[in-house]
Amino acid sequence: MSYRCGIGYDLHRLAEGRKLIIGGIEVPFDKGPVGHSDGDVVAHAMCDALFGAAGLGDIGTHFPDTDPKWKGANSLLFLEHARKLLDEKHLTIEHVDVVVILEKPKLGPHCPKMREVLAKSLGVSAEKVHLKAKTNEGVDAVGRGEAIAAHVVATLSS
Ligand SMILES: [Zn+2]
Repeated sequence: MSYRCGIGYDLHRLAEGRKLIIGGIEVPFDKGPVGHSDGDVVAHAMCDALFGAAGLGDIGTHFPDTDPKWKGANSLLFLEHARKLLDEKHLTIEHVDVVVILEKPKLGPHCPKMREVLAKSLGVSAEKVHLKAKTNEGVDAVGRGEAIAAHVVATLSS
């Protein structure tokens, strides 16, 4: 058995009047990510981590933000597509570990649902998806509530 790790990072600006979609679910809040798709930083960073581990480029290679097809897209579709590509390369998702950085609102209560939804898109059990949420201690754009960011590490085996 051989193992590969990949890392992914994403950040979106937050603006009023946008839905706050994180980890495949809508979290009630008055601001949401600005983006071509639904702006789900967790799904996007996760795609990059998976593509990185698989040696398959990055999210922009597979889902260019110039393509009208992806305008307002549910980012779980990106994860489902990534999973298909991994299947074709006979790669198994062992684990994904996520850090979401957001000043407000508190994400802790939403984490179990996010894990469940993300795991379903990846075709793995929820215990293979780990999620942590933290603030940026009031510092920088994320700390001022102007942006949301996520880091993901994915481990694959073959
Ligand atoms: Zn993104």
